[in-house]
Amino acid sequence: MRRHTKVVSVGSVMIGSPHPISIQSMTTAQTKDIKNTIEQIQRLEKVGCDLVRLAIRDEEDARAVERIKKSVSIPLIGDIHYDYRLALKVMDYGIDKIRINPGNIGSFDRTEKIIKKAADRQIPIRIGVNSGSINKEILRKYRGVNARAMVASALEYIDFFERHGFKDIVVSMKASSVPLTIESYRLICEKVDYPMHIGITEAGTFFKGSIWSAVGIGALLSMGIGDTLRVSLTDDPLNEVKVAKEILKSLELRDGGVTIVSCPTCGRCTVNLIEIANEVEKRVKDIKAPLKVAIMGCSVNGPGEAKEADIGIASGNKMGVLFKKGTIIKKVPEDKIIDELVKEIQSMAGNGG
Ligand code: SF4
Repeated sequence: MRRHTKVVSVGSVMIGSPHPISIQSMTTAQTKDIKNTIEQIQRLEKVGCDLVRLAIRDEEDARAVERIKKSVSIPLIGDIHYDYRLALKVMDYGIDKIRINPGNIGSFDRTEKIIKKAADRQIPIRIGVNSGSINKEILRKYRGVNARAMVASALEYIDFFERHGFKDIVVSMKASSVPLTIESYRLICEKVDYPMHIGITEAGTFFKGSIWSAVGIGALLSMGIGDTLRVSLTDDPLNEVKVAKEILKSLELRDGGVTIVSCPTCGRCTVNLIEIANEVEKRVKDIKAPLKVAIMGCSVNGPGEAKEADIGIASGNKMGVLFKKGTIIKKVPEDKIIDELVKEIQSMAGNGG
């Protein structure tokens, strides 16, 4: 069960239970490149991104936020490192949330200035603790980088924010080690009830990063931890959102879109099921209706699975048997399976699934 957390509002998106777990990504265009940043955000929105983070590296980036906001509808988060003045600046241009790592902002009086302005403007702040930027004292006390050191670092910052009366906080405890990330979140969640932004930082390229993210984020979500998430990939940010959506769908924490159940194939399969499953998946990717589609290679498990789905196909003898809500609707030759299945999926989606 999802753990209870405070609710923080980021523009139109609420983060915290009981609100849906939101998906974030980050633009790769320079923020001052307004045209490309807007285009990228619009593409991210289209694939299901709920919030987007922008790197604010200088004043020009901060100013660009004002114009970007006019062309997109999802909330914008300003990612600030080192220079507290940029955090102050970007709040003048309509940013919906700030992400800082107080560990690299410098002295506490600089963080205090950010807190005061954010409180005035009612802009929430994510305190992003990173395994690479824990202060030396804490590292000495806890003998290096470990979950207890991460938690001590986060609590030190949270305590500082709270002493300034600021509670509009989202917390993240990211590391590139999956076990360290899981343990750090588990421990911090025993101490505070702020909403958690979860993810595995620097998870890697598409293949490795997707798997590591799925394991880490999946483990946390299964423990009820996580109110917003980012899958960090060395890849197109659109893929971050797609992977994030699949992680949430796999745990039945989000629905929408076509879910394909397909068998791994074996010596019993007489059609090119890999091609069929991939091609069908590609052609139906933009359908929003929540439909379960089974694509099975033979009549052993095929009809059973296909019958449980909204629509499905079980192949055999170079043919495909099409099932809809448990009833056989037709038999089609192998070369027509993809077209016929996609046609039926589109028709069901058009009829509200
Ligand atoms: S459904 Fe049939 S073809 Fe697919 S893995 Fe199972 S036995 Fe093999």
